[in-house]
Amino acid sequence: MVKAIASEELERRLLVELGSRVRLGGFVYPLLLVAVALQVDFPGSYFWIFWLGTVLVVLAAIWRTMAANRAAHATTNWRSIREEIRVSSLLLTLLMIGLTSIALAAAPHSDFSRLILFGLISWTALGCNVFAPDLSLAKVFNLVSMVPFAIWCLSVRDEFGWFSALIFGISWLFLWIAAKLANTHLKKMVMTQIQLESQADDLRNARDSAEEASRARTQFLANMSHEIRTPLNGIIGVTDLMLGTELSQEQRELVGIMSQSGNHLLTLVNDLLDLSKINAGKLMIESVEFDVRHLLDETCRPIQLQAESKGLEWHMQIRKEVPQLCLGDPVRVRQVLSNLMSNALKFTDRGGVTLDVGMVDGKHMRFIVEDTGIGIESAKLDGIFEEFEQADRSTTRRFGGTGLGLAISKKLVELMGGRIGVQSAVGQGSVFWFELATSGNRS
Ligand code: ADP
Repeated sequence: MVKAIASEELERRLLVELGSRVRLGGFVYPLLLVAVALQVDFPGSYFWIFWLGTVLVVLAAIWRTMAANRAAHATTNWRSIREEIRVSSLLLTLLMIGLTSIALAAAPHSDFSRLILFGLISWTALGCNVFAPDLSLAKVFNLVSMVPFAIWCLSVRDEFGWFSALIFGISWLFLWIAAKLANTHLKKMVMTQIQLESQADDLRNARDSAEEASRARTQFLANMSHEIRTPLNGIIGVTDLMLGTELSQEQRELVGIMSQSGNHLLTLVNDLLDLSKINAGKLMIESVEFDVRHLLDETCRPIQLQAESKGLEWHMQIRKEVPQLCLGDPVRVRQVLSNLMSNALKFTDRGGVTLDVGMVDGKHMRFIVEDTGIGIESAKLDGIFEEFEQADRSTTRRFGGTGLGLAISKKLVELMGGRIGVQSAVGQGSVFWFELATSGNRS
């Protein structure tokens, strides 16, 4: 069934191709006839027959052009249009042959008649090429144009006659093969085009359904994250209140675990919400003026406390060329910095963590977070900013985490028009950096 549809479509497209090829060609015929008429002295009524035939050629050419125009948009009735093109083309050919014969009969042995005969071969070659999309038409055209003249040449019974008949015969065979090859080639091309279009359709449909599924997933994640966050905040709030009350040692430990787990879950839900917002293109980046040193102080205070409690060294360096005020989204800058610094602390057991803030090319601020922790294998570095990507399973088991923080950081930095990167060596530590324009997001 599918094959039948494809072969019908193939035939229809070949007709469209035929239509585009023959649309204007018919009007060359009367011009040729006028050129012939100017060279020939017609005896008696031949003159009028010739001109009447030329008028009929013009009418047939108009008919064929009209049919060819309709072929371009033909959908259901294309077969009848093909018949019209075939019949009008054959009519044109017969008229041309008839009128050329009249011209030859009027001047049978002149140089001009020889010119006409060989002109005919070029004309037939051109026609076979033009009619190649419809092999039957090309074959009939070739036969009708060549054979009568070959017979006529034989009837002349002189050396020129034999020779011309031979040339006509060879030309007929050659053009027959050429038309067949051209037709096969065209069919292959059109078939490939049909297949490519159908594949493009399939791909478009697959893309649409994937996009639809992704939208649904994003919406679901956004809704769920939102719904989960509200009761979770309630739980965390209550556990914090409970920790402020009088509790036994055991109760304090249990409530502490509850609070820690609640906070962990909240981070995860927030990450998912952020990611779904970013992926849905709904996360808006602000552009407001903020105090860089103030933001860094606020962001680093908890990190410094955590570093001290873990027995790690903590250094922060803000270079003097860093401006006091800059334009951007302080909430998102803080989110990226916190994520990089929390990771640095999480994956470092000895040594320390350093934050270095400076300028590059006078317009971009560069934040560098360096640690002396476990480092990352070079093979894993490329994919480290992908969603749910973690260096290895043992790291996940030992340190926990979701593999979303760096993916979110990368997307946020890019939304702010900046760049992010990393260098690392296993056992020696990692250097994560990002750069942002001090004049805000210009992307
Ligand atoms: P998470 O830390 O929640 O797993 P991230 O996206 O923040 O997710 O980090 C992805 C992975 O990159 C981590 O699991 C870890 O393997 C690796 N990684 C990130 N930062 C560091 C770091 N400073 N040192 C070593 N490995 C790191």
